[in-house]
Amino acid sequence: MLVSFLPQWREFLTLPESEGSGPGKRKLSVFCRYLLALCCREVPKSELRRSALVFSPHPDDESLGCGGTIIKKRQAGATVKLVHMTDGAASHRHLMPPRELATRRKAEALSAARTLDVDQIYFLDFADGALG
Ligand SMILES: [Zn+2]
Repeated sequence: MLVSFLPQWREFLTLPESEGSGPGKRKLSVFCRYLLALCCREVPKSELRRSALVFSPHPDDESLGCGGTIIKKRQAGATVKLVHMTDGAASHRHLMPPRELATRRKAEALSAARTLDVDQIYFLDFADGALG
């Protein structure tokens, strides 16, 4: 279904005003909402109550990728455990040294886990980029 609509959207998105901000940004927003409507569905309560083990490649992927689902599952009474695979030290090298970044990301992940109300959090601490 999605594939059949893509050529029309590609044409819509490549109109001159679709670049940069203003009307182009609105078009992108409409397109993203359209994609979400195609891909998303309401999760039944029975499914929300099932426990989950979330594997997060880097600290923050769990929040950005499925933070809303984690919150809904916890509210439904499910047990949710997080596993952070790497230390996340390889990004933003231009902003801070890798060790400092890893320490900061771990602290933020702990804070996010409290906000998400997860039951348990694990840090495997593999070097970022070493699991490819
Ligand atoms: Zn990531």
